[in-house]
Amino acid sequence: MRIVILGAGESGVGAALLAKQHGHDVFVSDGGMIKENYKKELQDSKIDFEEAKHTEEKILNADEVVKSPGIPEKNELIKKIRAKNISVISEIELAFRYKGNSKIIAITGSNGKSTTTALTYHICKHAGVDCAMVGNIGYSFAKQIAEDPKSLYITEISSFQLDDCKTFRPDIAVLTNITEDHLDRYDYKMQNYVDSKFRIIMNQEKEDIFIYCLDDQVTKENINKYTIKSTIYPITMSKELSQGAYLLNGKMTMKWKLEEMQMSIKDFAIKGKHNNYNNMAASLSACAVGIKKEKIREALQTFHSLEHRMEPVATIRNVEFINDSKATNVNSTWFALESMEKPTILILGGIDKGNDYSLLKELVQEKVKAIVCMGVDNEKIHEAFGDIVPLMMDTASAIDAVKAAFHFSEKGDVVLLSPACASFDLFKNYEDRGNQFKMAVKEL
Ligand code: ADP
Repeated sequence: MRIVILGAGESGVGAALLAKQHGHDVFVSDGGMIKENYKKELQDSKIDFEEAKHTEEKILNADEVVKSPGIPEKNELIKKIRAKNISVISEIELAFRYKGNSKIIAITGSNGKSTTTALTYHICKHAGVDCAMVGNIGYSFAKQIAEDPKSLYITEISSFQLDDCKTFRPDIAVLTNITEDHLDRYDYKMQNYVDSKFRIIMNQEKEDIFIYCLDDQVTKENINKYTIKSTIYPITMSKELSQGAYLLNGKMTMKWKLEEMQMSIKDFAIKGKHNNYNNMAASLSACAVGIKKEKIREALQTFHSLEHRMEPVATIRNVEFINDSKATNVNSTWFALESMEKPTILILGGIDKGNDYSLLKELVQEKVKAIVCMGVDNEKIHEAFGDIVPLMMDTASAIDAVKAAFHFSEKGDVVLLSPACASFDLFKNYEDRGNQFKMAVKEL
């Protein structure tokens, strides 16, 4: 088969290596420049590629195209590929075809994917399972299979990757929650985005497991629209369940077939309501692949939170600084604020993907004493909070934002960077924003 790969980033290069290994005629095309390390990997494997252009004659003769999740459907080249009825798949779909008998835990959702993925991986590793963490979290699934196959893959999957899956069937699927995000890629129709998330279970059968959050409004409203063949294990904080995981009065109870495990939330290494959901989802996933409850319990106590997600940075003159730069939508900022136990100075702003800030109003009123805006256009933030927060200030860099926040703070306060926005106006990406924030704090 001639397989053409569009986009030579982590997933595209991984797909190329795997396709080549299986004897296909592989061509990689990237409209931008390809990073040196990826170029070298392609050259070393004698894979034909081009950069800074797309040569249509070399692309439209493909039997199948593997599309980078970053390329939208409205892209002209994609339209031409679709018009020729060429099969388009994601790197995840390609990897799935070559995974052999290995098992897959696949985690999707609007928020909490990476944390749940990393936590599940931590539990599996701790229990001595031969496993790898792959997908949207930063390591190509296909490359892992090509270079170092494992018996279990813990895979973070975005909606864009699901869109181009056809036969992908995870043994365990986790849907953390669904809130408005990326609507620009879904014709501004929420239903399209919801449908995309539910593709995670479309090929599942009865012996497969589906873990989802009963407390998530959008999941709840939509779940009956789909045929679910999988065995379901919900998570909730609102009632007891006969199967699944629930958290009541500060205690998590997990019920898996005849097994039962209980754990106080005080013993969880990562705190906050949102992380309690993540702890439940990861514990159930681990249980589903046969990990003993003692191992799960130990691992939940020893997990370190990921960088840029509610990451403690430093405490300076009794003011605590927290980096939650990964909060790129209103929902994740809501959960960050919800977990604050001290007066908070909130750093907000960036590129707004159509935010409805009214969702934050109640928590802001209750917990936030000052807002430092950090973005090119801060007008919507002023409109939303101008009348309820006494102190507001505009800044346009991490250094100025940190200085202003420190200036507003008193002993016992928290400075929380949880911007509710994407970062591309002032920063390269959320990691860059988080790193600049941390540097600025260290320079105070
Ligand atoms: P994702 O990979 O889906 O973007 P992350 O685990 O990286 O999710 O977390 C992103 C942000 O979302 C974090 O900053 C955190 O505050 C928030 N968050 C994490 N888990 C959840 C959850 N289960 N529900 C809502 N928000 C969450």
